[in-house]
Amino acid sequence: MNIPLDSKTGPSMQEYYTETPCTWCDNCGDYGIWSATKQALVESGLHPWQVLLCFDVGCHGNGADKIQAYTFHGLHGRVIPFAAGAKLANPNIPVIAFGGDGASFSEGVGHLVHGIRSNYPMTFVLHNNGNYGLTTGQASALTIQDQPMNSSPNGIPERTLRSMDFVFSLEPTFVARTFSGDIPQMVEILKAALQHRGFAFIDILQTCPTYNKFATHQYLLERCKSVGEDHDTSDVKRARELAVDTSKSIATGILYQNENIPSFYEHLKPREGKKTTAVQEVERVDVSEWMWEFV
Ligand code: SF4
Repeated sequence: MNIPLDSKTGPSMQEYYTETPCTWCDNCGDYGIWSATKQALVESGLHPWQVLLCFDVGCHGNGADKIQAYTFHGLHGRVIPFAAGAKLANPNIPVIAFGGDGASFSEGVGHLVHGIRSNYPMTFVLHNNGNYGLTTGQASALTIQDQPMNSSPNGIPERTLRSMDFVFSLEPTFVARTFSGDIPQMVEILKAALQHRGFAFIDILQTCPTYNKFATHQYLLERCKSVGEDHDTSDVKRARELAVDTSKSIATGILYQNENIPSFYEHLKPREGKKTTAVQEVERVDVSEWMWEFV
């Protein structure tokens, strides 16, 4: 999708300001992701009334009223179907869905599967802080095995879900990884994702200094290494290797992109040749005459 730049009255960071105070803990990675999102939208030429931001339940989800835009704060694990539905109803508006690792790889994992395989034309941002922060630090499917957490002080017995291997098994068309302490990289990835034809999956390794004592800011700062401009984003085999092997360092940047796969919307036969959106086609229908039998 090509987003037109408004050169006359370009958007500004101030437009995205709300008076609702932030409630995140000091040094939470949510601050960085929140800032990067606003900057990416501004640099994409988008005003707040031109974008839909959908939030799952979680600490990040409490940011739904801390940014000016069309926003939606949904049920736990259900952000992808809502965001996809809104996008299909009005494909002219860029849609970003935000979800945590808890909701996205447990309660809502089925939605993630079908979001990727359907190639909905939207961006999905994973706030990956390795735990359920909002409910005070329970282990998620992405918590590292044996790491002590609040409700599992001896460490969780389950093996950690290999999230990136899982995502690549679904044949995605856009996969990126970044870190909540690297705002410039997050901005560039978000801008590229907004222009992607289908489902853009962005794994943001997010610090949670209150409950995740393992993946600290310093830990991620030392290990995250950008793949650089020479990386071939069309090489899915290499991208998967880079995504999965974090033994020595954590590869960040746009790991894989395939623009040759049509999005879900492009496959919809009833939409072929339509100049209007489904939202524009909604009609008011007087149903009162059918209501009398229920009176
Ligand atoms: Fe951020 Fe963790 Fe605090 Fe939640 S609990 S606001 S994720 S630092």
